[in-house]
Amino acid sequence: MTIERMPLKANGHVLSRTGEVEVSRMFDDMEPIVSGGAGYVCTVCNRPPTYRFTDDAVHVQEPCPYPDGITTTITISVPSGKLLVSDDLRPVFNWDDADPMSYETTLGKAQATWQMAGVGCAYGPADNCGLDLYRTGPDSYVIASPRIDEDGNPSLPESDCLTSICTDLWAYSCADFEHWKARGGDPTALGWSDTVVDVPPGEYRFIHHSGERGFDRDSADTVIYAHVERI
Ligand SMILES: [Zn+2]
Repeated sequence: MTIERMPLKANGHVLSRTGEVEVSRMFDDMEPIVSGGAGYVCTVCNRPPTYRFTDDAVHVQEPCPYPDGITTTITISVPSGKLLVSDDLRPVFNWDDADPMSYETTLGKAQATWQMAGVGCAYGPADNCGLDLYRTGPDSYVIASPRIDEDGNPSLPESDCLTSICTDLWAYSCADFEHWKARGGDPTALGWSDTVVDVPPGEYRFIHHSGERGFDRDSADTVIYAHVERI
């Protein structure tokens, strides 16, 4: 039995933090296997890799279908002009998750976002970072985590902040308040961090960024999770 570490040519997948994998051979003349150092599935596309071995590297055969990660773009209707902003609008809005582990992957989170949009909820995974909804123009908004400089000044003007989102669930959820009530939402059961924001009635597009390759949640600058616009 021999074990060695070899560079991984991941073909766009995200499998190994170090860029290397552990390769073992039971006997010198046996086909090597990847025995450690890499995930069983790509943390973006949720697919198990098929490896190919050369003298100096381990290669993943099939390319990742999402080499740039996933930007989710969804649209919800807000005909009432009353946008309910929360971290959690379950059970009124929920998604089917046949594979609970898939939510750990970028694709699983994107599927949750797409499913939630299908029932009228703009859902976006975040960290437990605290998010704010800011107006950036007459019909444009961002959902962002601002930074505070050493003088205590926030990186986005507080006067543009419409509401804050407590991210205990590590997500935001936005929906038309009347649509939420029509699906059984109980206004008396709303929490302290659930707010209803007045916006112009219409269709709202949410472009969510946290699944993008290179999205930096620890950036020193404002972290924009979503751009929102009335279309
Ligand atoms: Zn992949």
